[in-house]
Amino acid sequence: MKRSLPVLLIVALLTLSCSTITIPINQNVASTTVPVSQAPGTADDILLFSIGMHIEPFGETAQGYLGSTKADYNDEAFFLRHVKDIRLVADIVSSHGGKMTIQAQSPFTTSAIRLKDSILADLYGGGHEIALHFHENAHLGKNEERKPVKDWCTAMSDEVTLIQQAVNLDAASKNVDIRYWSGGNLYPQIFEAAACAGLDVNSDWKNPETQTTDISLVGIHPWRPAGGTSGDDFSLLSSHDPAGKVVFLPEGLYDETDFASRRRSEDSGGDEAYFEYLKEIFENSLAAAEPGKVNVFHFTVHAGEFHGDPAHPFEVIERFLTEVVDPAVAAGKVRWATFSEMADAYTAWEVAHPGEDPR
Ligand SMILES: [Zn+2]
Repeated sequence: MKRSLPVLLIVALLTLSCSTITIPINQNVASTTVPVSQAPGTADDILLFSIGMHIEPFGETAQGYLGSTKADYNDEAFFLRHVKDIRLVADIVSSHGGKMTIQAQSPFTTSAIRLKDSILADLYGGGHEIALHFHENAHLGKNEERKPVKDWCTAMSDEVTLIQQAVNLDAASKNVDIRYWSGGNLYPQIFEAAACAGLDVNSDWKNPETQTTDISLVGIHPWRPAGGTSGDDFSLLSSHDPAGKVVFLPEGLYDETDFASRRRSEDSGGDEAYFEYLKEIFENSLAAAEPGKVNVFHFTVHAGEFHGDPAHPFEVIERFLTEVVDPAVAAGKVRWATFSEMADAYTAWEVAHPGEDPR
């Protein structure tokens, strides 16, 4: 019975936010090392792999809306705690030769700028992609889905500019290109708005209310969606339109719709069980990789998520890389790629295969 209150609290938190609100606690800092980047484009059956990270809108955003009241990145101590967590995970990934796509928004970015904290500059300098995680209600306010594309474009563009400013704390990393975003999933015109803001790569679709993903969106081959969805009809989102402005990266060969929320289910065994499940999906995806197509697999962590034992922080991630990913990379079956590199591989494939169905 002791566990019921925290579990209820977690469930309540999850219903509030697109994806997750974990409030992890940990320390330890390390610096980012340099992963290697490869040329995109796969003519073989290699599976392109990465880990995405969502940074949630804790506290008041740049637009003056409250993203989440559960914690606050405007509070320096909380901001710095997550900075340490993010660096730890990025360092683990880098030490395995990998690179992440780290997705930020205000007020994390505004705090980095205000505190002159070089977190995003360092991650970018270390070879990770820096991108946008966009909680629409935190940047557009209530009834966001009824607002016009130009309002969305402005809010997304403003968030991109803040990310660029946070990255440019390091003078060596000027003019960083922000291309990928996650979020805005229930806005039917999301692709128009994102393209207007200069973004051209997307993934991680799930319904923020139910935390489920329509089965038509799972798989390993990217495509260009014909349009967005309000959460009921997936026919445009799951259809390929060669003229589509955005490349959509599916997450892997899942066979159920609740995989986004599964990580947080204590009933299904917590972190260890989630990574066992992830291993199964990774292996299914690897087995399904096809020569002559672009094959991708990626999963999402949130800042501080999967922290585990403070004595061995993020051990579950480290073990997954060591036991599952590293051997596949060594065998030449898997290659690390940021999300934009996956999209570039897809675009190169399109040029070489005009008129072909990418899936
Ligand atoms: Zn989120």
